[in-house]
Amino acid sequence: MCLFCKIVNKEIPSNPVHESDDFLAFHDINPKAPVHILVIPKIHVDSFNEVTPETMAKMTPFIKEVAEKAGIKTSGYRVITNVGEDGGQEVKHLHFHVLGGAPLKWGHFADADPKDFL
Ligand code: AMP
Repeated sequence: MCLFCKIVNKEIPSNPVHESDDFLAFHDINPKAPVHILVIPKIHVDSFNEVTPETMAKMTPFIKEVAEKAGIKTSGYRVITNVGEDGGQEVKHLHFHVLGGAPLKWGHFADADPKDFL
């Protein structure tokens, strides 16, 4: 069973923010911003590549509820999902990072110079 499935099953503790029948939101253990929450489906989905439109349709309002609960819906936030090796996905259970609570930085995401690929 994967790490996040164990969190869903409460075999590993988490610091939850919001929960529904289908989804769980909890604080990231290694936050990259003042607010850094992970949103996951309770069923195991490997990554964004495998998620169904039906799950995404339900996940979208859930993520907005998380932003509301975290107090960042109006101030703004970023939603990221890392996919696969180049995406830097470490946990192979679909999760959306919800980041906010301060102005977020934006820069090059790769060591390679983007202009080399134009
Ligand atoms: P990713 O690199 O997109 O797969 O992100 C995985 C995220 O899971 C990282 O930001 C980790 O800090 C976070 N993480 C790993 N283990 C835990 C845990 N037990 N509880 C909360 N967050 C975790």
